[in-house]
Amino acid sequence: MPIDMHELSKMTDGDTWVKKVPPSCPACGYILVGVPKNICPECGRPFQRRRVEQFASDLQMEMRRLRDMNDMVDWSLKLLIAGAVILLIGVLRGNATPTFGEAARCLAIIVGFLTTAFGLNVLRVNRLPFWVREHMDDDPKIGLGQLTGVLGVALIVASIAFP
Ligand SMILES: [Zn+2]
Repeated sequence: MPIDMHELSKMTDGDTWVKKVPPSCPACGYILVGVPKNICPECGRPFQRRRVEQFASDLQMEMRRLRDMNDMVDWSLKLLIAGAVILLIGVLRGNATPTFGEAARCLAIIVGFLTTAFGLNVLRVNRLPFWVREHMDDDPKIGLGQLTGVLGVALIVASIAFP
């Protein structure tokens, strides 16, 4: 079967969430394409071409890793709702069937941990230089991620402390 280059590039670059990071100044993010000297025209700092290339490919890799972070925030919201329902059922049924109630609380604690981990994962975007976000098509859901992160902890606390 002949390899369709268009299909191939769609597989590797067709990700609409992440565009290629152009070679940019590691200090200020100025795009260095076509700059004749090894000095950034924007911030005046010298740069090494090999370092700039490495920097761009490192960022590209990190952005690929983070491309699913909004999906994970959405998942943390679903987990939070599921955990709250599990806890509620556990509390309601716990009087009649204490073993069931305990099992439901344990499950809600685990779901709470996952909720927090999935929600706060989006904060990893803060490790990237601010200008990298300009290469992202969607804004990271930082506010919602923080909210589900906190509510995940609240779910754990409620699962332990709720009478
Ligand atoms: Zn610069």
